[in-house]
Amino acid sequence: MENVSAPTKTFLGREGKLLIDGKWVTSANGETFETINPATKQPICCVARGNGEDIDRAVASARRSFESGVWWRKTTPAERGRVIHRIGELIDKNGDELAELETLDNGKAVSISRAVDIPLSAEHFRYYAGWATKIEGETIPVNGPYFNYTLREPMGVVGQIIPWNFPLLMAAWKLGPALATGNSIVLKPAEQTPLTAIRLAELVQEAGVPDGVLNVVTGYGDAGAALANHPDVDKVAFTGSTEVGHEIVKASAGNLKRVSLELGGKSPNIIFPDAQVEQAIEGAAMAIFFNHGQCCCAGSRLFIDHQIYDQVVEGITEIAKKIRVGSGLDPNTDMGPLISEEQFDRVTGYLQKGLDSGAKIRCGGSPSKEGDLAAGYFVQPTVFADIKDEMEIVREEIFGPVVAVTPFEDMEEVAQRANDTTYGLAAGIWTQDITKAHKLASLLKAGTVWINCYNAFDAASPFGGYKQSGYGREMGHHVLELYTQVKSVWVGLT
Ligand code: NAP
Ligand code: MG
Repeated sequence: MENVSAPTKTFLGREGKLLIDGKWVTSANGETFETINPATKQPICCVARGNGEDIDRAVASARRSFESGVWWRKTTPAERGRVIHRIGELIDKNGDELAELETLDNGKAVSISRAVDIPLSAEHFRYYAGWATKIEGETIPVNGPYFNYTLREPMGVVGQIIPWNFPLLMAAWKLGPALATGNSIVLKPAEQTPLTAIRLAELVQEAGVPDGVLNVVTGYGDAGAALANHPDVDKVAFTGSTEVGHEIVKASAGNLKRVSLELGGKSPNIIFPDAQVEQAIEGAAMAIFFNHGQCCCAGSRLFIDHQIYDQVVEGITEIAKKIRVGSGLDPNTDMGPLISEEQFDRVTGYLQKGLDSGAKIRCGGSPSKEGDLAAGYFVQPTVFADIKDEMEIVREEIFGPVVAVTPFEDMEEVAQRANDTTYGLAAGIWTQDITKAHKLASLLKAGTVWINCYNAFDAASPFGGYKQSGYGREMGHHVLELYTQVKSVWVGLT
């Protein structure tokens, strides 16, 4: 690993361990796994493979810390806020190292890790630091000689299971609000990308979060399943595929644990002829190609008014052809490899399915194999035209840099087609007509609607799905409800 900084080399020189009760430990059975650089398919380093026994140990540690009140009763909200703020500062301070680790493990361009993933993660903690002092109950006017008030209390032990597409940021989305509201946590990162979660947990310790409040169990899906099934876990927050989301809900039935789900999507992006067309073309390309299309909210169905269809398809095709595909560590790279062999097979499988079903490829359509690219999971940005709404490439989430483009005639038609999906995570609208924009925004069944922009995010604005894209909203003040419960207290006044 020559072309990484000294701190990154030092980190990679250690074996990744589990964080349980404030100590870095091996898995109970000593098993480890190699995490792979998807640009080269070469191992980066070894990480502990936690299993059900480790989840038991981590949950017990979280339970002890919660019941002791070390974080939510004995640490004042102001102090909690200061500690969480410090996590944000430490992320910024160690930003270069975190960006390199993210790029090695996930494949994304280091310029993106550094400019997007790291600062958004730091900002997320700082935003929730502010909330620690603002979790309030209410006083309620009731009938009779009583005084009634509510307390908003933490859920207790929360399990958090996250995916590989934004490893550090997804950890931040989960940890920020859970810590601000005083919960104790067991975090299970994705098997493909455990590294930044481990480094983040070290920073969480350095910031002053007491032992046992955050536990991290790296491992495979069996560890996630053990966490989702655990009878002493009060709540599970999950981000990942809709398929595993179904499993999480079933697993929650045992002890009726609370569940929140951020799942997949097949988001429509709609361009009207009265849009600023050049801006819309760039926005539509970014909507699908950002993060190699490995975004739950990727604008993977592009609806273009028939009057500007040729112009937009040509424009997005030109942009796709210019995207420089390469190793994430190369500063000239725009788009890195897909995350894994499984994902590579899935995406290339959809490319074939598209062709088989009669869709036409305007650009891309195959793996990138020139020079060093043959060594990794690289796929060319792809535009599919001549599609039909019932094709698999239009109905199913590909989770790669593949967009299906289609013309439409009018707003009613496009609203109906855009909503004809089991998903409902996000949608984009491009028009200068504000009446049309707001009317369509109200018609679309999606948790986020972007007008004349796409992929805009802020810790303060809620994000989550309609339909099978999940339930519960992360970010903003909405997520605080997922990590707290309400206690109604009655005081007799006679
Ligand atoms: P995934 O297979 O569902 O995995 C997500 C996490 O769940 C991983 O940590 C995984 O562990 C774990 N897991 C696997 N099987 C489990 C089980 N039976 N019980 C409990 N946990 C289990 O998803 P992915 O392939 O990593 O991520 C891609 C998907 O996530 C896409 O569908 C995407 O749309 C969705 N996503 C949604 C959002 C959102 O905010 N809505 C954000 C990002 C991604 P292993 O890694 O060890 O398998
Ligand atoms: Mg990896």
